[in-house]
Amino acid sequence: MVLKIVKYPERVLELPGEPVTEFDDDLRKLVADMFETTYASQGIGLAAPQVGVSKRVTVIDLSMGKDPAKRLVLVNPEVTFTQGKQYEEEGCLSFPDIREKVVRAAKIRIRAQDEYGKWFEMDGEELLARAFQHEIDHLDGILFIFRMSALKRSLSLRKIRKMQKEGTW
Ligand SMILES: [Zn+2]
Repeated sequence: MVLKIVKYPERVLELPGEPVTEFDDDLRKLVADMFETTYASQGIGLAAPQVGVSKRVTVIDLSMGKDPAKRLVLVNPEVTFTQGKQYEEEGCLSFPDIREKVVRAAKIRIRAQDEYGKWFEMDGEELLARAFQHEIDHLDGILFIFRMSALKRSLSLRKIRKMQKEGTW
């Protein structure tokens, strides 16, 4: 089922997600729906708060649905190591039409549970490192506009206000 993606400034986007304690069919249904929603929106990742669920769950698929082996489910993820810096353009499904450069770590190691509760560790660099950081930020209520420079943030907020006024947001 394709879920409705909430847009900024919906309150749930700025709340830290609750840790997941039940690894049940409801969780797996949420994960399946989140993948379907990501693909329907042509995104590469989605966090549960973006579909109005304040839980520490995120899905990532850099292949955008083309390769099932690329599907990543991160439940209760934690960053355990970061290295270097990268400065690349990012977008967010909760900010349609906003794309800006954001500083992120170049390499990152995460630890997370899958949808069955099994812990795993994974390294990411380049786009995957950015996706990890962007999605884990969502679970802490941190949005990518807060990672932009003050100038880019105010330009983005102005663009959003203009779209809200025109009814295109
Ligand atoms: Zn996002």
